[in-house]
Amino acid sequence: MVKKILNARLTLEQTQKQNDQVTIGSLYLSLLGNRPRVPWRCLIFANSARPKAIVTMWLQLQNKLPTSDRLASWGMDINQQCKLCQNKLETRDHLFVCCEFTRAIWRKLMAWIKWPDYTLDAWDTHLKWIIEKARGNNLTAQLFRLIYAECSHAVWIERNHKIFEDKCRNLEHVAKEVAYMCCMRAPTAISSRLQQLSFV
Ligand SMILES: [Zn+2]
Repeated sequence: MVKKILNARLTLEQTQKQNDQVTIGSLYLSLLGNRPRVPWRCLIFANSARPKAIVTMWLQLQNKLPTSDRLASWGMDINQQCKLCQNKLETRDHLFVCCEFTRAIWRKLMAWIKWPDYTLDAWDTHLKWIIEKARGNNLTAQLFRLIYAECSHAVWIERNHKIFEDKCRNLEHVAKEVAYMCCMRAPTAISSRLQQLSFV
């Protein structure tokens, strides 16, 4: 571990010497080295969502969030039922793709921005779909990255509220909060358009 930290420090110092303008992106890429790039990186870069929402999405994409199935696999004796729908076992794939609570929030957000809804029910096809939508620098891709990160974060926070505080808000309330956050965080060119859309 210490060796890894020292190597990372050396890499960062070299990057700073080689470049006049050092950005977080260039530091990240130099630390990444020659490792293969993940296909979902388009969701992470140039995403105007809150940093905490991007971190949640980053963990979700790697299946590193402490969902009930993962906690149980580490030997914890816990109720593995999904807290949001009370219907299925809680896994990353269920929580973010199949759960009716999440789907209903997503449907409301898609209706808000007047995009067709999607009805995918497997993580692999879901991942393929989000990568396709998030790729590129056009306004549509920028908006999709923002909404996806904020929506994933909202679902995770809602799940935590239910577990730790035994509180669950109305899904409409959650969807509106995501929409509000997107209006606040979107680049100016998108933000003014979003604010003109009515939330149904
Ligand atoms: Zn569920």
